[in-house]
Amino acid sequence: MTAASAAKLRPHPALAAFVAFLVVAPFALSEFYVTLMNYIGLATLVVLGLVLLTGVTGLMSFGQQAFVGISAYTTGVVTTLYGGSPWLGLAAGLGLTALVALGLGLITVRLSGHYLPLCTIAWGISAYFVFGNLDVLGRYNGLGSIPALSLFGWTVDTGRKSYALIWVATLAALLAARNLLDSRSGRALRALRFRATMAESFGIDAAQLKLVIFLYAALLASLSGWLYAHFLRFVSPGAFTVNVGIEYLFMAVVGGASQVWGAVIGASLLTMLKEWLKDILPRFFEQSGNYEAIVFGLLMLALLHRARDGLMPVFARLGRGDPRRASPPVAAPGLSRRPRPAAGKLLLELRGVNKSFGGLAAVRELSFEMRGGEILGLIGPNGAGKSTVFNLVTGVLPADGGQIRFRGERIDALPARRIARLGIARTFQHVNLVGAMSVLENVAIGAHLRGAQGTVAAMLRLERDEERRLLHEAARQVERVGLAAHLGDSSASLALGQQRLVEISRALAADPVLMLLDEPAAGLRYQEKQALAGLLRRLRAEGVSILLVEHDMEFVMGLVDRLVVMDFGEKIAEGLPGEIRSDPVVIEAYLGGIE
Ligand code: ADP
Ligand code: MG
Repeated sequence: MTAASAAKLRPHPALAAFVAFLVVAPFALSEFYVTLMNYIGLATLVVLGLVLLTGVTGLMSFGQQAFVGISAYTTGVVTTLYGGSPWLGLAAGLGLTALVALGLGLITVRLSGHYLPLCTIAWGISAYFVFGNLDVLGRYNGLGSIPALSLFGWTVDTGRKSYALIWVATLAALLAARNLLDSRSGRALRALRFRATMAESFGIDAAQLKLVIFLYAALLASLSGWLYAHFLRFVSPGAFTVNVGIEYLFMAVVGGASQVWGAVIGASLLTMLKEWLKDILPRFFEQSGNYEAIVFGLLMLALLHRARDGLMPVFARLGRGDPRRASPPVAAPGLSRRPRPAAGKLLLELRGVNKSFGGLAAVRELSFEMRGGEILGLIGPNGAGKSTVFNLVTGVLPADGGQIRFRGERIDALPARRIARLGIARTFQHVNLVGAMSVLENVAIGAHLRGAQGTVAAMLRLERDEERRLLHEAARQVERVGLAAHLGDSSASLALGQQRLVEISRALAADPVLMLLDEPAAGLRYQEKQALAGLLRRLRAEGVSILLVEHDMEFVMGLVDRLVVMDFGEKIAEGLPGEIRSDPVVIEAYLGGIE
């Protein structure tokens, strides 16, 4: 066993301590605290879903308590009214939750801004009234005499037995979520929130992934509801008010909404605090009431003011630092590669393409062609429309008119993620990396479409073979642009020129037939530019076609096969570098101004 794999197998000391505590706790704690721990576990399940949904993906939900309620009531009805087994109750609860979440998710996850939180509040309120008004659910009195669970003849009828079941489920969910975030799907998920355009440009289906996470978060809440119903043996609508939904969200924020273990911290602290406040506050106010809500509100204000990332980063500092830092991946068999078009074969064709922003015509009647194994320079003054051409070809923006064909197929009406599948990869003029991810992980996003394993395989760690190959490929491409020493660094820590090189290696990881590079040499030193030119020549020799936007004329002229010159959205010249250099129209519009 190598040192690296031994280090991987050794559990994180904080995790080991936590598991040890969980094992010892039911023997060491009084019944009261065991029950408290049960509530913490139940809340952690729900909050974990919110961590993935809100913290990682950026979708805010105030309605998770309603999913808890659906499943608690379903198993209540199945077991008390129909005499069914709790396991049937679980299946029915999860099934019903999945149906509702899918329906709700299809409507809501595409909503932007405040619509999604509003929609989840509305959903939470209506679920509460449904629970409280249906005769079959016992109206506001709820359902009692729900049977205890039994598992291979072992009846879960005490707090300590429930503890075992709840915490096994919670730990499993925590590990599954951690596995998910550290996978192909997890990278996609973590990229979505702040880099949606980039993610779609590398083939990630944002809407589908968001729906999957919405569903997963609902199912976690549903599992919590089923455990809750059989632990408490009683359900009533009071446990599923919007207040409770807000508390879950607060727990996620307190813990640090983007980190899996933050769910445990948030759920623990607030559950304990709530218990303590319920005990102590009425003594001050000399009558009973939900005074803890006031304290929670004040705490929320303090937290948002003082520690926006929640408490998890504080705890993480006590541990070993960022566990996401990548060690160099082990060697793995290569991924399959796309066949390249024959040199000189028509590859990309623009015919009379137009794009306006309001009254501004950014691209006007633009036509040009690119062939296999060609480097075509696209030059022109700032604002000429070059980056807009990139956005049109890659599907980031829809064209207003004209046709774009790639290998004969119309692509001007396809979404970005479909165009990526055809083998078109790009870099962005304004660097589009995920700052919180390592260089290796950023580049691995480029290889997204070369893997196929989904979220469930990732949670169960069944995709390790493919993952190794993806990471190995990513590392190979990072090496190619000369950044091997920075594999594990966070991309935000690199100089701007190096970040552009990371962008190039991410595009390379997609195994592209056509690469669109938007000012790749900006910010590079002379020697780095030479190295980049060498790399682009080698790629051309391998049959990769490159559309290059660049302002450094020496770099461009020494590299490209042909040039297209734009000014005010129009093509003003096209030809060999020598011809363009001496073209009076070009000199007037562009080169003259620079030289
Ligand atoms: P270049 O890359 O050649 O410098 P761009 O394609 O970025 O030029 O921009 C061309 C013109 O279109 C500029 O005037 C720019 O301000 C405008 N433009 C580009 N993108 C947008 C956008 N998303 N919305 C509005 N105007 C835009
Ligand atoms: Mg530009």
